[in-house]
Amino acid sequence: MLPPGSTIGILGGGQLGRMLALAAAELGYRCHIFAPETDPPAADVSAAHTRADYADTAALSAFAQRVDVVTLEWENVPCAAVRQLAGQVAVHPGAQSLEVAQDRMAEKQSVEWLGGRCAPWAQVDSREALDGAIAQIGVPAILKTRRFGYDGKGQARLHTASDADAAWAAIGQQPAILEAMVDFAHEYSVILCRGADGTMVDWPVPVNLHKGGILATSSLPPPALVREQAPAAVALARTVAEKLGHVGVLTCEFFACRDGLRFNEMAPRVHNSGHWTIEGSETSQFENHVRAVAGLPLRPTALVNPRVTMTNLIGDDVADWPRLMSDPAAHVHLYGKGEARPGRKMGHVTRLGK
Ligand code: AMP
Repeated sequence: MLPPGSTIGILGGGQLGRMLALAAAELGYRCHIFAPETDPPAADVSAAHTRADYADTAALSAFAQRVDVVTLEWENVPCAAVRQLAGQVAVHPGAQSLEVAQDRMAEKQSVEWLGGRCAPWAQVDSREALDGAIAQIGVPAILKTRRFGYDGKGQARLHTASDADAAWAAIGQQPAILEAMVDFAHEYSVILCRGADGTMVDWPVPVNLHKGGILATSSLPPPALVREQAPAAVALARTVAEKLGHVGVLTCEFFACRDGLRFNEMAPRVHNSGHWTIEGSETSQFENHVRAVAGLPLRPTALVNPRVTMTNLIGDDVADWPRLMSDPAAHVHLYGKGEARPGRKMGHVTRLGK
């Protein structure tokens, strides 16, 4: 167990790192952020910030000497950086989790190999391959870049085969997958945490509502169809964590279809759909992640109230802060970001009870 006063290095400086650092502070740890941005939200609440590129091997080496363990809050940290750090200090989760989660194709292949079901998909490495994929998958479909997609970015929808040129151009002609549009009833996520000793906990499953590809709300309890499918989804996510030797929080997103569940994607980290756990669960995703990384036992994850709703504050939503701050039922979290650009996650609000 990492003694109090030790330093946890965090790769990435966004709001997830900020909430991890706050949870780490409660357990008596310091955090050191490694991120290329000038004034990242996580650095505001951390002991130190190394401002450097993830390809800067000298900066990575100096960072490794100043921390006792390393974790990450952004899954697109280059695997090379994680491998270099792992030569000097323990890194959780490790490069194997990142490698799979960074590539939509590897992600889907791994999950299907483990018996999970995804939307029908095909590999697209060229404009010609897109025609073949359309013939195989049909339309409507979504073309998704294999790498660096998030919040609906790096995606283009095809309503008819004639949309192929525009879709290929829209995603920047990058290696991609074509995925059949799934007629889902709901979206939900399994959030689990695996300790260094292999023990696992998972949280009750929230139903997630997206607007424009960005998470808008996560709430519990989820509808009956999600409740029916949750045990199988949790079992699959646990198997994925086990096979990856993952340490820390792992999030798997699913579609609840009338004919069963379909895996969508995974994140090898704490997740926006788990922010409600700060007030809504006995232990937050952030605390259990810090515990896993620090080699502490994991704590229980039961709901403290049967009804919980987390609402994201996206872009201008944050202008409503005076009303939210005055609402005794609202647990307000603001991320300390300067400019409220459209689509930017500025904060979230959690409400317990009705
Ligand atoms: P993703 O980045 O893959 O999570 O996609 C962002 C959002 O787009 C998802 O949360 C869904 O709302 C929607 N979406 C993604 N893939 C599909 C699909 N195959 N069928 C229907 N909707 C999808």
